[in-house]
Amino acid sequence: MGIRVIDPKLCIGCNVCVDVCPLDVIRLDSSTKKAYIKYLRECQSCFLCEVECPEDAIQVVSVHERRMVTAW
Ligand code: SF4
Ligand code: SF4
Repeated sequence: MGIRVIDPKLCIGCNVCVDVCPLDVIRLDSSTKKAYIKYLRECQSCFLCEVECPEDAIQVVSVHERRMVTAW
């Protein structure tokens, strides 16, 4: 699954996650000014967005965890 959630209650619309994502997964909604997951399937679980978000609004699942979830 890769990036799992961007919490809109925590997101302050700073655009950092959009800038750091190397795979163009995240967009900023122009009306709500909140980040959202646009291209989930492109995510490679690099964790950059989760690490760089100043509000801890993003959760990413590692590839390993993704396999475990699939196994269930
Ligand atoms: S880095 Fe965090 S606070 Fe900034 S836009 Fe992305 S999700 Fe929102
Ligand atoms: S984990 Fe990496 S590839 Fe996935 S959305 Fe975040 S920055 Fe982009």
